[in-house]
Amino acid sequence: MTGSKENDRQAEPIFVTRPSLPSLEAFTESLRQIWDTKMLTNAGPFHQELEHRLGEYLGVEHVSLVNNGTVALIIALQFLERRGEVITTPYSFVATTNALIWTGFTPVFVDIDPMTCNLDPARIEAAITADTVAILPVHCYGNPADVEAIQAIADRHDLHVIYDAAHAFGVRDNGKSILGCGDLSTLSFHATKVFNTFEGGAIISRDAAAKTRIGHLRNFGFVDEVTVVTSGMNGKMSEINAAFGLLQLKHVSEEIEKRRIVSEYYRQALDGVQGVDCLAVADSVAGNYGYFPIFVKADFRIGRDELYDLLKSNGIYSRRYFYPLISSFPMYRDLPSARPANLGHAIRIANEVLCLPIYADLDLETVDKIVDLIENG
Ligand SMILES: *Cc1c(COP(=O)(O)O)cnc(C)c1O
Repeated sequence: MTGSKENDRQAEPIFVTRPSLPSLEAFTESLRQIWDTKMLTNAGPFHQELEHRLGEYLGVEHVSLVNNGTVALIIALQFLERRGEVITTPYSFVATTNALIWTGFTPVFVDIDPMTCNLDPARIEAAITADTVAILPVHCYGNPADVEAIQAIADRHDLHVIYDAAHAFGVRDNGKSILGCGDLSTLSFHATKVFNTFEGGAIISRDAAAKTRIGHLRNFGFVDEVTVVTSGMNGKMSEINAAFGLLQLKHVSEEIEKRRIVSEYYRQALDGVQGVDCLAVADSVAGNYGYFPIFVKADFRIGRDELYDLLKSNGIYSRRYFYPLISSFPMYRDLPSARPANLGHAIRIANEVLCLPIYADLDLETVDKIVDLIENG
């Protein structure tokens, strides 16, 4: 036992994210209520209250909870009741495209705008064919996709739009929730996300009829005890997850504010470091600071992977979100739209990106240490 307390703390690994948890006492009290009522799942009281409170918090009317963000995508795609091609981004978590395969759609990759890391609307129309059914963009890092341009294209070609909004919990643009865009938006409440229910997710829909149909799709297709109207799946969130989510929701604003401080601190500290760019986000956007991506350019003193290794050997676990690109995985790389010549920006960004640790309780001294390692090795 030689090291000082300070050294002991520094020896702890710093991961890219770390969830904040409610007090164990509060959660125990929720569990006691579940034990008392014996309502464990199937839209019990915690589930109903969480849907209601999330609607209030997010500024949307129709929230349907599900058991994870991938199931949210699968149910949202199943909702379309059509099959064909769906235009999507290769620069995302693999679940975005996997969900298309699970629902029988053909993914068509379109390149990103390197400034936003989001689907480039200027390239979407060239990818539309007679078989195109929908567009599945992602609000990458919680930075809103170009929702107006995408909606205009969708309207012109009679396409559906489903947003994978897994990164966009609570994000607003000009004061308005971006979760109301498109036909549907899906959220993930996985442990690594800004708001989590251990595992969980939600679908945001535009009207009560859509919410009702999503309710059927997530519960085997049941309308009542004897009526099944669709080949639905089991996408239900349990009462334990919903109760936990209600406790998390109480402090999520505070968490996001703490993340904002960390994010701004990084930005200032990294300003002027040669060869390191941060993501530009419009002033009109109130983000959630779920990720802190940097882009390691050719004129940085070492390569991106060398920087990743350097941080790792110092106990700092950054992540290369999103590398490799979805389009380079064996299931997708033979698609015509996956050819590298089609995805030049996404390929470059995937080779430059590094997401640095960010979470509410990340102390600014650790940020200093990370920036010092980046700058000086
Ligand atoms: C996390 C994530 C998902 C999947 O959500 P799960 O809740 O882990 O199933 C889907 N898309 C994106 C962009 C994600 O980041």
